[in-house]
Order: sequence, then structure tokens, then C-alpha cells
Amino acid sequence: MIRIDAERIFREIEEKKPSRVTLSAPDGLLRETFAIASQIGAKYGIEPIVMGDSCYGSCDTTDDDVKRLGADIAFNIGHTISLQKLGKYTVMIDAFDDVSFDKVLEEALPTLKKFGRIGIVTSSQHLPQVGRVKAFLEERGLTPVIGKGRGQLLDGQVFGCEFYPAFNIREQTDAFIFLGQSRFHALGVALSTGKPTFMLDPYMEEVVDMESSANERLKKAILRVYKAVDAERIGIIIGLKEGQIMVRRSLELKKKLESFGKKVDLIAMREVTDMRLAAFRNVDAFIQTACPRISVDGETFDRPVLSSPQAEALILLLEGKDLGMFLQRGHWL
Ligand code: SF4
Repeated sequence: MIRIDAERIFREIEEKKPSRVTLSAPDGLLRETFAIASQIGAKYGIEPIVMGDSCYGSCDTTDDDVKRLGADIAFNIGHTISLQKLGKYTVMIDAFDDVSFDKVLEEALPTLKKFGRIGIVTSSQHLPQVGRVKAFLEERGLTPVIGKGRGQLLDGQVFGCEFYPAFNIREQTDAFIFLGQSRFHALGVALSTGKPTFMLDPYMEEVVDMESSANERLKKAILRVYKAVDAERIGIIIGLKEGQIMVRRSLELKKKLESFGKKVDLIAMREVTDMRLAAFRNVDAFIQTACPRISVDGETFDRPVLSSPQAEALILLLEGKDLGMFLQRGHWL
């Protein structure tokens, strides 16, 4: 069961005495978030506003919207990071899942014993279980390894686009386990490290080998890079979500691509979808510097839509070089 740290929300309100607050959460936590909003209204007599847009991570804060809504605090629920506050108004609120991994670990043991040194990674909601899983593996003669946190990432934590605690220990491990029911994150670990990666789903008690999905995604990502080589006109999309705005990076890519004779347009948008891109008929290929996962496993676009690492691979091809293992890195931005 996922438990949102509502006490922290109440403490912040009592301390700061805001006139209004906003709450953002992933779709799966909206029901619980509405319940907390009702409690805030009843307890403090202020108007909580639940943000209805998607909230994918700590890159998806709403500091600017908060000002426009006349609120003083933006609670961002369910994306625990190394910082408790972000920007001027955002307060990060933990939402931890207390589900046990013991059964799925027993299920995984025969597979893991073939490897020996096991890197443990997870997303924010299962971080408190990492220590217990480490002890479980040690007791059974395996060598668990937990990578150090970096930037916003805590020890053993990965985002969908940032993998330092996995990537930095890839030489000390024979395989990785991702704790949780998220093929999205497990796939990222497999692609970033190039190591055997298993998703341990504690709900279905299922061990999922990510190898075939990772190979399939990698092939598609490579194909899109090759398809973009002949593009005459390239649109570089700058994401408008607060933690995804990469103007400098976009300008660097523009300059580089122009040096190969490409016509480059800069476009800014909040949600990169096939429907929105359809309006830009004269563009042959896109690069989006917002969220790399849009290009790696997002919807199917009718023209290539490359992420930053794919754009770098494209530049290597234009220089007549090999595109290399462009997804094997700690951060895909
Ligand atoms: S994968 Fe995308 S949504 Fe997730 S943290 Fe990275 S940029 Fe944000």
C-alpha cells in the first residue's frame, strides 16, 4: 500500500500559513491526493487546488502555475529526491509503498545465483526497501551492490532518464534488479548499463528479464537516427515543463546541425505528441530536448523524433563516424 506523507504537508501548512496550496501527483495517486486536499480544506479553511495535468517526475514542477493561481506552496507528491524543496514554492512529499519483495526475491533467486554480483536499483516509491533487499541477498550468499546517489538521485535510485547509481557501478556488477512494477524504469536501466536487468514485480510476484524489450527499443532508436540523416529541415523542440527547459542545449545542437547544412527551426511546446507535430508539415525530422523517453518509448511518430543522445549519434553519423552505444550513459539529457 502506498502511504503519502500527509503529516509533512500539514506541518508545512501550519508553519508557513499559506492562503492557498496546490497539489500535484502521478495519476495513480490522484484519489489519495483528493482525500488529502479535502482534509486540508476541513482542517485549515484554505482552498487546496489539485493540478490536473500529468505529473511525471521532479522535472514536472509547477512553480510558475502556482504564482498564477495565487498559491504559496506547491506540494509535489510521490517523487522523492535528494532535495526536500525545489524552486521557490515546490515542496517534495514522499509516497512510499510498503509492499514486501520477499516472495519475488525467492522467485528470482535461481536466476540471480547465475550472476553473483547484483546491482539493486529502484524508483522513489520503493527506496525504503533497498536495505532489506540487500540483506536478503547477502544472507543467501550473493553480493549486492548499491550505487551512490548523484544530483537529485539518492543511493540506488533511478529516474526514467537518469541512471547514475546503476551506470556508475556497471563494472562491479554482473546483473541488475529493478525493484518495482515499472518496465519503464527497468528498461532504462538495461539500456543505460548494457547489463542483464530483471524487473522484480512484487505485486504479480513476477521476475521479468528486460533483454528482449531493451534490444527492441535500441533497434528502433538506432533506426530513427538513421532515418534523420537525410532530413533537410530539422525542428528542435524545447520542452516547456519546468525541469525540462533546455534552451542552451537546443541552441548547441542547432549550431552543430547548421554546420552540416541543415535548416533548423526552434519550436517550444509542453506536450510532444504526434497530433501536435502534424502541424509542422515542412519539417523532415525533430529533435526534442525535453524528455528522452518520448523518443525512446513514446508514441509512434510519422517522422523521426530524436532525444538528445540520439541527436548526438546523428551528429556522429554526419561526421562520418560510428554512432556508438549512445544510450549507455548515466544521463540521457
Ligand atoms: S524520464 Fe522524462 S519525465 Fe522522467 S524524469 Fe526524465 S525528463 Fe522527467
